[in-house]
Amino acid sequence: MSSWSASQRYGLASAPGGLGLVQDFLNTVGIGDYGPDLLADGAHSGAWAAVAVPTWSALRGLDVRPPTLSDADASKLRAVRETIGKLVAGEPPMGRGTGGVSASLALSETGEVRLEPAGSGWRWLASALWGEIMLGQRDGTWRRIKRCHNSHCASTFYDRSKNNSGVWHDVKTCGNAANLRASRARRRERDYPAQNPAGANPSAT
Ligand SMILES: [Zn+2]
Repeated sequence: MSSWSASQRYGLASAPGGLGLVQDFLNTVGIGDYGPDLLADGAHSGAWAAVAVPTWSALRGLDVRPPTLSDADASKLRAVRETIGKLVAGEPPMGRGTGGVSASLALSETGEVRLEPAGSGWRWLASALWGEIMLGQRDGTWRRIKRCHNSHCASTFYDRSKNNSGVWHDVKTCGNAANLRASRARRRERDYPAQNPAGANPSAT
C-alpha cells in the first residue's frame, strides 16, 4: 500500500507511519544522475503529491485530496524543503523559516484528537509536514530522520539502529565508499609523506 515514491527511487526504507511523508518530501531532492528534483515545478510537484498524499492519508486514516500546486507553490515547497533539511542537519532555524501555516484539530470517530492540514497549495503540504514533525518530536521518532553523511548522496533515511548512531543511508554503499576514501587517503599519507610541503605536517617533526 505504501508508496513513498521519492524515497523508494533511492532504495530507502520508509520512516514509520505519517513521518514517511516528511522523509519522502526531503527525498524529492535531485541527487546527481540518480534522480531529478521532483519539486522542479508545479507539474512535477503535483505528480509527486498525487502519490505521496494518498499514501499519507491512508496511513493517518484521513480522507484528504492532494492540493493543486502551481510553479509558485513548487518554489515555496523547495524553500520549505530547505528549511526542514537544515533542521535535519542540526542547523539552528533561521527565524520562523517559511512563516507560520495553519492546521486544524478534529475529533476522530474513535475519540482521538487529530491534527489535519489546513489551507491550500503549498500551505496545505507545509501544514501536513510541520504537523508530522511536531508529532515526531514528541514521540522521539524525529531525531531518527537523518541525511546520509556521504555528501554525494544526501538522501534522507530513517535510522533504525539501536542507539540511533547511523550516519549512512546504507553502510554497504555510502559507508564503504567513505571508508575506502579515508583509507586511501591514509595510505597516500603513509606511502608518500614527502609530497607534503616541509613543515606542513606537525606530526612529521
Ligand atoms: Zn547515502
